Amino acid sequence: MHELSLVGAVVDEATRVLAREGASRVLSVRLLLGVLSCADRDALEICFPLAVRDTPLAGARLEVVPEPLTLRCAACGAEARTWDPILACGACQSGAVEVLGGRDLVIASLEVQ
Ligand SMILES: [Zn+2]
Repeated sequence: MHELSLVGAVVDEATRVLAREGASRVLSVRLLLGVLSCADRDALEICFPLAVRDTPLAGARLEVVPEPLTLRCAACGAEARTWDPILACGACQSGAVEVLGGRDLVIASLEVQ
């Protein structure tokens, strides 16, 4: 249950935001699901309500937005966005690429109360 541990990290992060904002619960959460997180969107949506039970996110509306992999090539400088989880430059095939985005499951926005 990889998705369960990912949601656990989201709960931790959201709890920190709540404390900072002086809010008590999350009404909705929008998550960016990076290609490299290897999480399945359907599995995420199914396990989310279970994973957030007894947390400030209980009952929150979930929106999952898939995020492509964004790479920058150290060899030729090309930047590319791709839905394929392949760490190589599409222009020169170099493997010396830096991951700029699409690595993790991250919170894009939270609506709190
Ligand atoms: Zn390149």
